[in-house]
Amino acid sequence: MLSVDEAKRLILSGVTAARAEVVPIGEADGRVLAHTEMAHRELPPWNNSAMDGFAVRAAELPGELPVAGTIAAGDPPDRVLEPGTVWRIMTGAPLPAGADAVVMREDVEDSGESARFAEAPREGAHIRRRGEDVGADDELVAAGTLLGPGEIGLLAAQGCATLRVWRRPRVAVLSTGDELVDVDTEPGPGQIVNSNAYALAAQVREAGGIAVHAGIAHDDPASLTEALRRALESADVLVTSGGVSVGDFDYVKDAMAAAGVRIDFWKVAMKPGKPLAFGAAGEVPVFGLPGNPVSSMVVFELFVRPALLAMQGRTDTERSLTQVVLTVPYRKQPGRAHYLRARIARRGPMLEAVLHPKQGSGNLSSMVGVDALVVVPADGGDVSAGDTLTAMMLHPV
Ligand code: AMP
Ligand code: MG
Repeated sequence: MLSVDEAKRLILSGVTAARAEVVPIGEADGRVLAHTEMAHRELPPWNNSAMDGFAVRAAELPGELPVAGTIAAGDPPDRVLEPGTVWRIMTGAPLPAGADAVVMREDVEDSGESARFAEAPREGAHIRRRGEDVGADDELVAAGTLLGPGEIGLLAAQGCATLRVWRRPRVAVLSTGDELVDVDTEPGPGQIVNSNAYALAAQVREAGGIAVHAGIAHDDPASLTEALRRALESADVLVTSGGVSVGDFDYVKDAMAAAGVRIDFWKVAMKPGKPLAFGAAGEVPVFGLPGNPVSSMVVFELFVRPALLAMQGRTDTERSLTQVVLTVPYRKQPGRAHYLRARIARRGPMLEAVLHPKQGSGNLSSMVGVDALVVVPADGGDVSAGDTLTAMMLHPV
């Protein structure tokens, strides 16, 4: 059986680079920049005042000097400071030529015609220099950067009305199982709600993809094959859940082969989630996730998420790893890596992992409010309270 790391390596080596598209900057946050954006203009474009106050020659102060007038933000940068005078100036207004300091309004006695300064300012005080924020040849944002508010702000300041970003992959989510009904249907005897479709679609969106509901396929080879073919038609990635194990009605692997999917492997040494059929139909990566709700989500987290991030040009596809201390013992056999759902709590300088008491792969309640998956390595056996383990952080705590 493949280890988690080997499986991930195989998957990531198989996914191909996404295509780029151009989007308005107002819709670009959360996307990944497809090219390195260089400076278009210096910022600030001219020396300007960082304060409401007076533009002065530092060497002429202290003293009382006539006020030449007022420069507002938006005025053209063409004023000159004649010797022996000062300009009243507002924040962001262009500095008059010859000024070498700004004195803030609060420190000046302003009588309208003239202004009295009790002290000499430091040369350069409260001046924002042309190009001090962004120089003419600066790199603004590197290719592969996830665009957040800061990047968007800088790119907007540079006049980038549109940006080239990697396309969001369209991910078809196909559920399999004769027992499944949709969420708005009251389950009959023996039936359950198709929760995986919604959980997986939410994971797809969290990973930057576009989730496409491909419905529920029945546990018979012909209709499964047909459903897979249909789902593959418009998808960049196909994710199925259920039917990949060794049960009597687990036809997904065979149906994948019949639908033209090349299957690379189908078992990984992990818990929850041993069965995972991975392959490709042409360029389209195909993930056959297990049916158990927790297993499908954990397998998605470990393998599908990094693949979706890589397809969007992300270089950082991994969750951050943190050392955590267990508060309770956990029993396991050597052989498979276990991924335990935990809340993470700060205790002094340490992070403690409080394991959810229900670690079974069907216990969907264990996925509510989880901060991290705590990794118990494949080779090892039982772990004790007080042991330090690695946690994959699902979000910062
Ligand atoms: P399977 O892998 O098809 O044998 O399914 C394993 C378990 O997961 C069974 O208890 C199924 O009823 C359950 N299951 C499979 N698919 C789903 C789904 N889409 N939503 C919720 N539970 C599911
Ligand atoms: Mg099934």
